Amino acid sequence: MKLDLIPVSEWGIFTLPRPMVIAGPCSAESEGQILETAKGLSELGIHMFRAGIWKPRTHPGCFEGIGMPGLKWLQRVKEETGMKVCTEVATEKHVMMCLAAGVDMLWIGARTSANPFLMQEIADALRGSDIPVLVKNPVNPDIDLWVGALERLNLAGVKKLGVIHRGFSTSEKMGYRNDPGWKSVIEMRTRFPELPFFADPSHMGGKREYLLELSQRSLDLGLDGLMIESHCNPDVALSDAKQQLTPDGLKELLSQIVVRDNYSDSLEYKEGMDQLRAQIDILDENILGMLKSRMNVSRKMGQYKKDHNVAILQASRWDQVLQEMVNKGAELGLSERFIEGVFNAIHEESVRAQNEVLEQK
Ligand code: PEP
Ligand code: MN
Repeated sequence: MKLDLIPVSEWGIFTLPRPMVIAGPCSAESEGQILETAKGLSELGIHMFRAGIWKPRTHPGCFEGIGMPGLKWLQRVKEETGMKVCTEVATEKHVMMCLAAGVDMLWIGARTSANPFLMQEIADALRGSDIPVLVKNPVNPDIDLWVGALERLNLAGVKKLGVIHRGFSTSEKMGYRNDPGWKSVIEMRTRFPELPFFADPSHMGGKREYLLELSQRSLDLGLDGLMIESHCNPDVALSDAKQQLTPDGLKELLSQIVVRDNYSDSLEYKEGMDQLRAQIDILDENILGMLKSRMNVSRKMGQYKKDHNVAILQASRWDQVLQEMVNKGAELGLSERFIEGVFNAIHEESVRAQNEVLEQK
């Protein structure tokens, strides 16, 4: 389904151009903490303040958010700093309370966007309001589930829509708390180029030390903004202490980020790009032609094996071929990961085609 969207430039709550920055603590903990953090961020020129009021925690007994009183603190942030405010909603009740309290924007968390029942409940609660909503990716790397959440909101009339990428849960050991899964970011960006796209390096990285590299990478992929957790005293934060920055830390981070243009109007750039794109188009067509020839040979091999009553899959031969390709690729400066990915995909299709031949009567 094509999303019916109102451009972010017309939402009236972000100062463009990129990156749009949303900052504030993981959780609203006390009125003092909220106001002190908001003042620090406002002095940096940040216009959108975030704070979680209802917190989805892995274990019971952890700090699960301050609830209703937090909404009053957000109102004070608006009055005293002029900032806009946003918070996470996960149920119809949260939506109703936020709308009544004048919250300027909502976001849907990763555990909620993974749940179509909750997404429908939230979408229904939002019918008739024009509050902007940002949807975080579901915890599992399922792009369609993410898109489905957007569709439910859009069908309920939410046109001020955007997304936040916060990485995917993973059992793989990696330094980051969540797998950045850049491939999914590229896919989502390509499918919905007009959708405002934020990165959340805080939940992706899980530690302060990763924030700069993840923020830079996100902007280099052309994302429009960042949601970063900031707390006036991170070490004593009641949730996500290791990943939050002080407002001063955020200032430092933002000063180190290099913002590249998403495109350039210069004629020289356009001409140069047109030439390179033309070269790529020709190479891609050549690759397609080669793949077709290779598949033809695969089918002949299938027939030959069938005639001689030989099994299709000879795993040891494939290991050998793949290793040779990886070695040759390395000599050409092509990474092992890339070559393995490409040739395993080709091999899989080749086995499928040979099986097809085998099954023919
Ligand atoms: C949050 O933004 O504080 C949060 C809970 O994020 P996520 O849904 O990405 O885990
Ligand atoms: Mn958090």
